[in-house]
Amino acid sequence: MAVLLELDLKAMQQLMHHYGEPAFRAKQLREWLITKHTSDVHQMTNLSKNLRQKLALNHQAYPLRIDQIQYSAEDQTYKFTALTCDEEMIEVVVLKYDYGYSVCVSSQIGCAMGCAFCASAQGGLVRNCTATEMIAQVLLAEQIVNARIGRVVVMGMGEPLHNYQNLIQFLRLLNDPDWGLGISLRHVTVSTCGLVPQIRRLAAEKLPVTLALSLHAPDDTLRQKLMPIAEKYPLADVVLACRYYFKMTDRRISFEYILIKDVNDSPHQAKLLAQLLSKENAHVNLIPYNKVDFLEWEMSQNNQVQAFATILNKAGISVTIRRQLGDDIDAACGQLRRRTARIEVK
Ligand code: SAH
Repeated sequence: MAVLLELDLKAMQQLMHHYGEPAFRAKQLREWLITKHTSDVHQMTNLSKNLRQKLALNHQAYPLRIDQIQYSAEDQTYKFTALTCDEEMIEVVVLKYDYGYSVCVSSQIGCAMGCAFCASAQGGLVRNCTATEMIAQVLLAEQIVNARIGRVVVMGMGEPLHNYQNLIQFLRLLNDPDWGLGISLRHVTVSTCGLVPQIRRLAAEKLPVTLALSLHAPDDTLRQKLMPIAEKYPLADVVLACRYYFKMTDRRISFEYILIKDVNDSPHQAKLLAQLLSKENAHVNLIPYNKVDFLEWEMSQNNQVQAFATILNKAGISVTIRRQLGDDIDAACGQLRRRTARIEVK
């Protein structure tokens, strides 16, 4: 059973031919799926009833279907879960900003990177998301808020650069004004734990996406304790790869630094971080750590966060402290974990 969103123009035209329809129906159908973010075939009113019935009988519009929707009135954040065709669950977060809506997309089911502090890492990697599954997350978000999504951050579950081909395909579709969503790549951020060869490869693609680099420690010893990937790629190499990314794309790197109480939040560590980034065209995003069940880590105290930011600022580094969104619905960073809808049979 072909998923309609997965078909390219040629395949869609062939399908229309198969159903005895003219070729131009392919574009009409795509328009419903993408521009009008409709996954209900019966709503596609410029297609004949006969065609709609056949499509509904034989196809699924999107490779994801909405399961549950949660809304936090306090900060206007939605979180929804969607089920894949193989009954895996993906959580998607939709945030409202002054300029519109932003969606946080997951790139994998689970994650192989094993960061010690992150909920998504706990169950390991199950599989990559396909490009269409990533597109469908954006479209379902549009359906839920009934508005166009302006910004996309690939910061949900998974390591996007560990799913490189699908990520690139996703970015191109997101950007494609004819067959895709027509979202400017300048409004897209991809977050990585620091896979050096892939950062360089992405730089060479010259796509104007912002790279967010999850740093979380100012020295290799601590970074290795928190993030196993740091054993493979030392900080010096990561920073050089980021410099290369900036050189190739002219996009300033956003260095992400979660602040964990008594682990990486001391004034001394702030100074080390300032030194590490002193020659970079960087922006630092300080993220208060979100507590994860069963993990021992705690959020830094507010005054500690402020002091950390001040040290960076004084060293001439631009800093923001990220506002915490969606905490009351478990939609904050690092709280997305793999859950499955499959019923375990014992
Ligand atoms: N694998 C990618 C993207 C997914 S995580 C990456 O590592 O960047 C998105 C961001 O949330 C990363 O910066 C990650 O380190 C951070 N994060 C993970 N767990 C967190 C937690 N419990 N609280 C706050 N941020 C967390």
